[in-house]
Amino acid sequence: MVKTYEGDVTAVRGISLHINDGEFLVLVGPSGCGKSTTLRMVAGLEDITGGTISIGGRVVNHVAPKDRDIAMVFQNYALYPHMTVYKNMAFGLKLRKFPKVEIDKRVRDAAKILGITELLERRPKALSGGQRQRVALGRAIVRDPSVFLFDEPLSNLDAKLRVETRAELKRLHKRLSTTTIYVTHDQEEAMTLGDRVVVMSGGHIQQCDTPLGVYRQP
Ligand code: ADP
Ligand code: ADP
Repeated sequence: MVKTYEGDVTAVRGISLHINDGEFLVLVGPSGCGKSTTLRMVAGLEDITGGTISIGGRVVNHVAPKDRDIAMVFQNYALYPHMTVYKNMAFGLKLRKFPKVEIDKRVRDAAKILGITELLERRPKALSGGQRQRVALGRAIVRDPSVFLFDEPLSNLDAKLRVETRAELKRLHKRLSTTTIYVTHDQEEAMTLGDRVVVMSGGHIQQCDTPLGVYRQP
């Protein structure tokens, strides 16, 4: 895929990626190398300038973000401040016209998995950063999508919480086995989390291998 922004900035230069079912794929590289742009094209938040994107065998180039079988978690959590945790988690399902009973079940199940059941009636401003990130994760989990897209989800957390949440993400992936594309500039995060690591530089793929393979040939 290729992405050229207005003003002729080519952010992504002809990269090609195949992600296996259930795989945890990490895109890593310095700021400005095109990771976020790549992820946002998969999400449908940026138009693609060239190439195709398919999810589960279906080409989604012209499919609206909400109709792609994905759920995205952002660095800034992107919670709705005026809604309770419950409503934040339920929102995407409501938008997609899920029945109330099903929404309730999914929200409560996800809250249990993430240990945030006691927080369901609170609003985001009454939560810590770590709790907010759990709610953002919960919002993605309830959708039960084919693909999770993570854009630097740990970078607003302090060091201790970052390590804890990283471990939690790993457990979660073991449990749900949802195909995941995870963007980070943090090498250690990439090595710990990825089944496969894609090292990007200047809009290209520099390396694509298991963490061990990447480590061996820097
Ligand atoms: P990364 O996620 O690796 O930090 P990005 O995908 O955000 O990289 O950015 C890749 C390149 O595209 C950078 O040169 C950046 O300045 C440029 N870019 C990103 N978003 C836009 C935009 N909306 N308009 C123009 N240029 C952009
Ligand atoms: P969700 O289903 O996760 O609640 P919404 O239905 O509210 O998300 O949003 C519709 C689309 O907009 C989704 O594809 C989501 O990824 C995207 N989106 C939501 N919040 C943001 C944000 N802060 N920045 C960019 N895109 C967003």
